[in-house]
Amino acid sequence: MHSLGDFVSLFFPKLCPACMNPLCGTEKVICFECQFSLPQTDHPWDIRNALWEKMNEFLKIERAVALFDFQKHSRVVSMLYQLKYRGHQDIGLFIANWLAPQLRKSKVFEEVEAVLPLPLHPKRQKHRGYNQIQLFSETLAKHLDLPMVNDLVYRKKQTQQLAKMEKSKRWNEIEDAFEVIPSQKYPPQHWLLVDDVITTGATISSCGNTLLEACGGRISIVSLASRLS
Ligand SMILES: [Zn+2]
Repeated sequence: MHSLGDFVSLFFPKLCPACMNPLCGTEKVICFECQFSLPQTDHPWDIRNALWEKMNEFLKIERAVALFDFQKHSRVVSMLYQLKYRGHQDIGLFIANWLAPQLRKSKVFEEVEAVLPLPLHPKRQKHRGYNQIQLFSETLAKHLDLPMVNDLVYRKKQTQQLAKMEKSKRWNEIEDAFEVIPSQKYPPQHWLLVDDVITTGATISSCGNTLLEACGGRISIVSLASRLS
């Protein structure tokens, strides 16, 4: 006896957001082949990794982890596109549940005290309907037993899509884009900033430097992916 769900999935199969092949059997969200072969980095185990070196030119950070290497026209790009523009927040949830245990095991973020997802501008969030890294951040925070902070940093400037801009212009565009509303709730502490993709590092540097100036403390960063070469 087949259920209506089976019938529907026969005609509208769920696709793996990375390779866009239909999921089958017990596969959930990301297919087994992609789980096995997506280009994971060794950042959780390599404290002085390429991202850490690159980011420390712009922002003083303790730890830096990108979970995947981000190359043009790759399955990682496809997966992040589905997360960001196609409403598939389940991708963030799945990746956090899949990879957060590795972050816990490596102890890379063991000194972190709070998880802080980079905010979107309110208009962009309203248009998109969600912040693509919220669910990833929440799930990561749960795995790491850390509180989430959503009411400290705001995006006051609606920037153009940075990905479409020349690299040299991104830094000007993102400057002063964030605002921190200091609160006694939040003493200086070790923040973990979360973003989906780090390319030039302009966005997360701008957010991190604004946060450090307003609240002090220390910063580590994590992203789903980063372009490292
Ligand atoms: Zn796949």
